[in-house]
Amino acid sequence: MAARIIDGKAIAADLRAKVAREVQRLQTGHRLEPGLAVVLVGENPASAVYVRAKGKQTVEAGMKSFDHRLPESVSEGELLALVQTLNADPAVHGILVQLPLPKQVDSQKVLAAIDPGKDVDGFHPVNAGRLATGLPALVPCTPLGCVILAKTVHRTFEGMEAVIVGRSNIVGKPLIQLLLNENATVTVAHSKTRDLPGVCRRADLLFAAVGRPEMVRGDWVKPGATVIDVGINRVTGADGKNRIVGDVAFAEAAEVAGAITPAPGGVGPMTIACLLVNTVRAACAINGLPAPSV
Ligand code: NAP
Repeated sequence: MAARIIDGKAIAADLRAKVAREVQRLQTGHRLEPGLAVVLVGENPASAVYVRAKGKQTVEAGMKSFDHRLPESVSEGELLALVQTLNADPAVHGILVQLPLPKQVDSQKVLAAIDPGKDVDGFHPVNAGRLATGLPALVPCTPLGCVILAKTVHRTFEGMEAVIVGRSNIVGKPLIQLLLNENATVTVAHSKTRDLPGVCRRADLLFAAVGRPEMVRGDWVKPGATVIDVGINRVTGADGKNRIVGDVAFAEAAEVAGAITPAPGGVGPMTIACLLVNTVRAACAINGLPAPSV
C-alpha cells in the first residue's frame, strides 16, 4: 500500500479539542455557553444513533445540548412551531433538524424556517447563496470536513484539478464552492457524466460522494492523487456479516493514491466535529463576538 492514510478519527478528535478550548474561552471571557438544539422526528434507527452521537459530543465539548424528539405523526405546523421557539430561544445558537422527515412534512419549508444565523447544517437557502457568492456563511458540515482533511495533505489547493463525483445539495454542491474559494479548478461529475473513470483520472484531488459501494476503482485514480471518500454504504460480505464501505474501492485506490481517507474512520467523524465548529461560530456571530479560531 503506497498511500498515506488520512486519519479522520484523529483529526476530528483534534478539532473537537480545539472547539472545547474555544468554548472554555467563551464561558470564562464572555459568560457565553454555546447551545445546540437537535430535532429528531420518528424512530429511524440510523438517525437516532447519529443524534445520540451529536448530543454526546456536544456535551463533551462543554456546550449545551437540547434534544427534541417528536413522533413520526408530527404535523408540519407543529414542527414549524418548534423551529420558531428555538429561533427565539437565546440559549440556542445552533438548530439542526435531522433528515429525512416524514412525508407529511415539507423538508424544504422546515429548513427554510430555521433562522439562517442558527442554521448550523448550512442547508438554508440564505447560507447556500452566501457560500455561492463568496460571503461568510454557515457551511454544510460534511463538505467542510472534506476540505479540512484534504488540507492536512496540501497547504494550498491553488491550481489543482479537483473532481467531485456527486452533486447533492448537502455534499457535492457546497464542496464546489469551498474548492473554488481555495482556487482549485473544479469538475463535478454525476450519473450522466460520460467517461467517469477518465474524468476521475484527471483529479489531483478526488472527492467521491455517490452512495454506491466501492464504485471508484483503483485505475480511476491518478497516481499520487489525494482521495477523499464521503460514502457510507452498508454491505453484506460473503460471510453474511454487515460492514460499512465507502464509495471508493479502498485497497485498490490506496495502491495508487498519494493519500486517502478510509471509510469508516475518514469523513464520517469530521461531520459532527464540524457541526460543533459551526455552533461555536454561530454563537460568536449572534453575540457580536469575533469569529473563533476554529
Ligand atoms: P445523493 O443525494 O444520493 O447524491 C448522489 C450523487 O451521486 C448524485 O449527484 C448522483 O447523480 C451521483 N451518482 C449516483 N450514481 C452515480 C453513478 N453511477 N455515476 C456517477 N454519479 C452517480 O447522496 P449524498 O447525500 O450526497 O451522499 C453520498 C454518499 O455520502 C452516501 O454514501 C452517503 O451515505 C454519504 N454521506 C456521508 C456523510 C458523512 O457524514 N460522512 C454525510 C452525507 C452523506 P445525479 O445527481 O445525476 O442523480
